[in-house]
Amino acid sequence: LQTCSAESSTEKDLTFAMIKPDGVSGNYTTAIKKIISEFGFGITNETTVQLDEETVKDFYAEHSSRSFFPGLVRYMTSGPVLMMVLEKANAVADWRALIGPTDAQTAKVTHPHSIRAMCGLDLQRNCVHGSDSPQSAVREIAFFFEKSSSGFLPKHDEL
Ligand code: UDP
Repeated sequence: LQTCSAESSTEKDLTFAMIKPDGVSGNYTTAIKKIISEFGFGITNETTVQLDEETVKDFYAEHSSRSFFPGLVRYMTSGPVLMMVLEKANAVADWRALIGPTDAQTAKVTHPHSIRAMCGLDLQRNCVHGSDSPQSAVREIAFFFEKSSSGFLPKHDEL
């Protein structure tokens, strides 16, 4: 009878990752997926969608009063994005570490091996997204995917 397991050390967490429009149009998808797999993440779900303005405004609502918000909305609607649910122990923090700082120019200096250093351009066009906390991960996965008996299903039309 098994009454105890080392769950805390082996339990897999989920995080939400996105290859943003500049990453998709710059053909970085294959390289980024290779890194994802090399670092031991599983891709539980993925879908390519064209986001509309309303969805982006809602997703980034916490930034709605910031001066960069209109530019962020234009950028995020400028082309298709690839959304992924990633699975791994410590997925949230490990994916954030792998993508590097928000400003891709900073990343090139301080985190030269990060994904944003590899494919990002500047503070806005930083090629990838990652949930910043376990709470954000839950919200963001639920924002784009609904749970079904066979896993998660994308809520938005797939391209
Ligand atoms: N962003 C921007 N200008 C800024 C700060 C952020 O255009 O001064 C964009 C950038 O694309 C960033 C996104 O807004 O990834 C969300 O910002 P956040 O501070 O949440 O950064 P992240 O969590 O993506 O590193």
